[in-house]
Amino acid sequence: MLSINNLDVYYDDIQVIHNLSLRVEEGEIYALFGRNGAGKTTLVESCVGLVPVRTGNITFNNRDITNMAPYKICSLGIGFTFQERCVFPTLSVKEHFALAETSAFSRRNLKEICDEALDLFPDIEPHLNDKAVTLSGGEAQMLKLAMALVRRPKPKLLLIDEPATGLSAENVHRLTNKLRELKGETTIIIVEQAIRAAIQIADSYAVIREGAIIHQDRVSSIDKDEEVVQKYILG
Ligand code: ATP
Repeated sequence: MLSINNLDVYYDDIQVIHNLSLRVEEGEIYALFGRNGAGKTTLVESCVGLVPVRTGNITFNNRDITNMAPYKICSLGIGFTFQERCVFPTLSVKEHFALAETSAFSRRNLKEICDEALDLFPDIEPHLNDKAVTLSGGEAQMLKLAMALVRRPKPKLLLIDEPATGLSAENVHRLTNKLRELKGETTIIIVEQAIRAAIQIADSYAVIREGAIIHQDRVSSIDKDEEVVQKYILG
């Protein structure tokens, strides 16, 4: 479904992704691990057109999306959640959910969208009418994730960058259940530092170091694979 081929990405003259290739198959959950600064965010941002690719290419369902404008990539059915706070400070939580409806043909009203989001993260309910600027880091994280997960039409591919950051253990559990539910229907790439939570739902994983993949495999056993990832990250 997503094929990244011999990618080189630079910030000015500093190369951060080095000849990186990766294939993600339709319907799978793919986890990307690596230390701070390894290049995980740069890689996923280059897939959605936010960071320019210098050489190499990225295809989505055999269509070349390299350096395509982010809104066009979104219209092909690719969703993305940023690592940063990235909510609209002056809009209320409810107004954010209204933006999650991107299809003019959908029959859902705002109440249905809010109900779906609150079903996922009930902790947001007391804040429905609050402006996003007043939310804590964890609440903003839930808002951002809920927007991506209740979006219609459902994304064919969803890239989520460090979703567990700022979430309580209970909300990480809710999120992983939701991602499991989407599996099959939506292909998911998840960038995470929380190895155990991600590896529990992933089918495959890769470890990135200094902008290159140093290890990739199918998930076979949670304990064994967690140990392998830790070893590669620390090594
Ligand atoms: P983290 O887990 O901390 O988010 P990461 O694996 O996602 O790390 P990136 O954020 O992709 O890593 O960063 C890769 C390298 O690129 C780092 O050395 C970082 O300092 C550098 N970098 C990231 N963004 C920029 C930018 N906008 N301009 C210049 N250099 C950048």
